[in-house]
Amino acid sequence: MRILITGGAGFIGSHLAERLLDAGHSVIILDNFHTGSKDNIRHLLDNDYLEIYRHDVTDSYRLEVDCIYNLACPASPIHYQRSPVKTVLTSVLGVMYALNLASEIKARVLQASTSEVYGDPLEHPQTESYLGNVNTIGPRSCYDEGKRVAETVMFDYHRENHVDIRIARIFNTYGPRMSTNDGRVVSNFILQALRNEPITIFGDGLQTRSFCYVDDMVEGLIRLMDQDEIVGPVNLGNPDERSIKEIAEMVIAMIGSSSEIIYKAKPENDPMRRRPDISLAGKALGWQPSVSLEEGLPKVIDYFRPLALRHMAPARMPR
Ligand code: NAD
Ligand code: UDP
Repeated sequence: MRILITGGAGFIGSHLAERLLDAGHSVIILDNFHTGSKDNIRHLLDNDYLEIYRHDVTDSYRLEVDCIYNLACPASPIHYQRSPVKTVLTSVLGVMYALNLASEIKARVLQASTSEVYGDPLEHPQTESYLGNVNTIGPRSCYDEGKRVAETVMFDYHRENHVDIRIARIFNTYGPRMSTNDGRVVSNFILQALRNEPITIFGDGLQTRSFCYVDDMVEGLIRLMDQDEIVGPVNLGNPDERSIKEIAEMVIAMIGSSSEIIYKAKPENDPMRRRPDISLAGKALGWQPSVSLEEGLPKVIDYFRPLALRHMAPARMPR
């Protein structure tokens, strides 16, 4: 198949591209390299079945493909809050142009949605039927509401124009090729610990997240795309819920770091608890994550070790 990945030079997109190429598909990456990097796909450049275009998904495009993974969008709070209007446009225009193309060439399109559609959830764990608790006007809204509208537009094209859609609600994902200036908790803590710098916990560290290793996520995305039973939305994530303080302690112990833990202000609207209910993914896709945090974190530590001293201090939330 010919497969388009928007955002294919990013963290998850580059792993997806690699898996699809390995499976013998032709892959086209469309990316504006806003948060992605050529380094993420450098090892794939010799593959004749890969094409790369620098393009912004807020402009239309025309390609002949069988299916589209629409991943283009900055995913980390420091990046998506830096240019919030652009973030909304990337989600909303990006999905509309993907759907216009899919409608015209009769391709299937999978939207990378997010657990952020549940906001700071009042139901726990989060099932797909939970409608969410999202602030429409806060600093995270450009991302959360952009992704919510993207889901709406997906379903409207599906109902009105019969476009073949799939929606994945992706929960916190980690792994090699997260960027060093990403500002997300796993990359920040590992870089800080490798440099023996203070580990910055925002708030009291009792807030929770559930972390999914990137290989498991890619497997879930491909299974969702490749089946004909459900369109979604489907939660994809690892239900192993941990506090942020526990993550800090694990990283310090795994690295043998002398870093101390320091506490900083918790960002506005930062969700207190997050854990996916993945029963639907289990039933419909036969999917469940297989890599534990104890197995996955050391792989990311190995990835960051040579990079840690080459780059500046880890990224901080904008004040
Ligand atoms: P990432 O920032 O590493 O990758 C996003 C990619 O999209 C980058 O290569 C970036 O350059 C590209 N991009 C951004 N804006 C663009 C635009 N306007 N035009 C073209 N390309 C653009 O993020 P990621 O972690 O790989 O996330 C991929 C997708 O998965 C995103 O849609 C994100 O919202 C979603 N997601 C990720 C997570 C996670 O934990 N990583 C969780 C939930 C949802
Ligand atoms: N966080 C933290 N220190 C950091 C980066 C993040 O304590 O250096 C916290 C952040 O406030 C949030 C959690 O870790 O409560 C997860 O943050 P991340 O940005 O990785 O993901 P998201 O909030 O988008 O789920």
